[in-house]
Amino acid sequence: MNECEISILLLCNPGDLILHELKEHLYKVFRCRITISPYNMDLTFSFNKKRQQFIAEKIIEQAALGKKNLSDKWLLIVDADLYSPGLNFIFGLADIQSGISIVSITRLKQEFYGLSGNQKLFLERLKKESTHELGHLFLLRHCPDKKCVMRFSNSIYDTDEKLPDFCETCKRSLKFYRQ
Ligand SMILES: [Zn+2]
Ligand SMILES: [Zn+2]
Repeated sequence: MNECEISILLLCNPGDLILHELKEHLYKVFRCRITISPYNMDLTFSFNKKRQQFIAEKIIEQAALGKKNLSDKWLLIVDADLYSPGLNFIFGLADIQSGISIVSITRLKQEFYGLSGNQKLFLERLKKESTHELGHLFLLRHCPDKKCVMRFSNSIYDTDEKLPDFCETCKRSLKFYRQ
């Protein structure tokens, strides 16, 4: 397998323990070197006042300006409600061309739904959405398998229903693309 590097870039702080677990999980599924560092970006430019949400495409576009190595894979983690044109909201997005993905933690927290916080559930959701977006950067597409992490999440229920791992078919595809 080719060497690969995943950079987790933080625009918010999900907590040390959460990040440690996320890193372990991503290493287990992708077998890449994984680094975590803070990333400084003011998201005001991507804010849509009418929707009170941030447009994910613009954030990725902006981050791409500062990315030198196209083959590195970036995962931006933000605490901002994201949208993409045509969708009410998104948990995350990936841009294969720049090698940049983004995940929002806003809707992964139980508090968003008026419920009391649950760190374990939050961690599972973050693992799933991060694996999903990075999976796209490794050229994986959406998967019809309900339990597969590459299944598209329309709602938090979909996210909770799927597992943080790839199904056997997606595992084979990942292996193929990594060669
Ligand atoms: Zn997707
Ligand atoms: Zn799958």
